[in-house]
Amino acid sequence: MGSARLTIDLNAIAANWQRLDRLSRCETGATVKADAYGLGAAQVVRKLAQAGARKFFIALAEEGATIRQALGNGPDIYVYSGHMAGDAQMLRNLALTPLINSAEQLARHLEALPGHPFGIQLDTGMNRLGMEPREWAAVRDIALEAGPRLIQSHLACSDEPDHLMNGQQADEFHAMTEGCAVPKSLAATGGILMGQAFHFDLTRPGIGLYGGAPFAEAYPVTQLALPVIQTRDVEPGEAVGYSATWIAGRPTRLATVAAGYADGILRHLSNRATLWAGDTPCPVVGRVSMDLITVDVSHLPTVPEALDLLGAHQGIDDLARAAGTIGYEILTSLGPRYRRRFEGLTA
Ligand SMILES: *Cc1c(COP(=O)(O)O)cnc(C)c1O
Repeated sequence: MGSARLTIDLNAIAANWQRLDRLSRCETGATVKADAYGLGAAQVVRKLAQAGARKFFIALAEEGATIRQALGNGPDIYVYSGHMAGDAQMLRNLALTPLINSAEQLARHLEALPGHPFGIQLDTGMNRLGMEPREWAAVRDIALEAGPRLIQSHLACSDEPDHLMNGQQADEFHAMTEGCAVPKSLAATGGILMGQAFHFDLTRPGIGLYGGAPFAEAYPVTQLALPVIQTRDVEPGEAVGYSATWIAGRPTRLATVAAGYADGILRHLSNRATLWAGDTPCPVVGRVSMDLITVDVSHLPTVPEALDLLGAHQGIDDLARAAGTIGYEILTSLGPRYRRRFEGLTA
């Protein structure tokens, strides 16, 4: 088969959740937005539910159908974007809990779905989602009267533990929620690692579950093997790939593998990335094209059937560094053409 194989280790995801759960001095949820960071939400949430997770977080109500179907009734599914116009039916039918971001969303929710569970999202300095102090002060009594299930905010700089904003946001969160007898949540992966002062009642890790920084102790989750379609020998002076950006300086054996930027292997990795033949690194030469990558395999005694882009020697953060991005973007770019194989599927 020509398509590349992406192996997702669900046991590693469950083990990462359990480690973050032990570090969290409170309940631990799981952020599974964007199809569980591109890995496959249905399989991931079933595994996490089996590991003990009871609260799941998604970005959009539309993402809820797959997840509710996979989880069945019972676990809570929170929606970061809150209650958008037109969402009411979906929120009700799928029993999703919107995290209300504004007075406008609060009014919409209380009018369209009175009695339906909701949470509150507060802005403590990131200026992205949630109510700011003045807006919150104006609606706080009405909101608390209606019985929110959760009040949360989000840290802007938790990948930098020494950043002053972390403490400022925690202080602001305390100030804005003073006297509210409602469970509170501030920390994602980075906040869990910063310690108990950031944990409150519930944490919401995402990237750490999937093996990414800043959770340095995470078990790796992904392996990506790109099949070799063809090999060829080029002479010194011959050019390789679009725009002839690489010229052989010596006799070179090339392998052409079946994946490219259409599969999320960013074009910025041209002449930069490394693939692995078992323990042996093999440099990408020339441009990454839409469906193909060319690799220098001159030093291999035999060319294997596939070369690894992600695996034991190169994780998502290593690849992200080479691509000038973050592990989150490497994961969520993983393409739909890969044959996804899950290890540790729940029955
Ligand atoms: C994505 C997200 C998370 C999870 O963050 P990680 O850094 O992946 O752990 C938690 N809360 C909110 C509001 C988010 O948008």
